[in-house]
Amino acid sequence: MRFSRRTLLRTAGGALAYATLGLRSRAVAAPALIGLMPLNARTLSFDCTNTGEKLMNVDYWVEGKYVPEALDAIDDALRDYRTDEVYPISTKLLDLLYQLGRELHTDCCFELTSGYRSPETNAALHELDSGVASNSLHMKGQAADISIPGRELRDLYEMALSMRMGGVGYYPDPDDDFVHVDIGRVRRWEG
Ligand SMILES: [Zn+2]
Repeated sequence: MRFSRRTLLRTAGGALAYATLGLRSRAVAAPALIGLMPLNARTLSFDCTNTGEKLMNVDYWVEGKYVPEALDAIDDALRDYRTDEVYPISTKLLDLLYQLGRELHTDCCFELTSGYRSPETNAALHELDSGVASNSLHMKGQAADISIPGRELRDLYEMALSMRMGGVGYYPDPDDDFVHVDIGRVRRWEG
């Protein structure tokens, strides 16, 4: 399921234009202008490297409200790709990602290495690599491993640190090449 900015704009713009026409039928120019009025929205995109799926330009928050259908689409995209289990991703984490993308002057399109992880998946990863926390916030939908195409990983890491919105891990090794962000307590580490 996908929700584009254009679809939502058309809906809200159409409704607003209609309402204005009803109130002021002689105001010819106003409906056209209102139709172009941008919504106050928070938009995210994900390129999920493990599934090859892309979720583009999802307005997950519009005019002060989270959009349930958009959140469903995000939960699905950020599922545990090993088991296909879907889990609600924290809106606080989405807001963190959105703010991070904005601070870096990007269009908030993230390459995603890991979103939700089921307890089984996390335990298996912990067995293989003790660097994977056994109580990882990935299991609560409160963490994401990300990068931003075309941007230095170090810049992403430092910006996430400066925001002080949760934990930040730096994994610059070419085999990893991601920054971990979560909404737990403020802390930092380098993998
Ligand atoms: Zn992580």
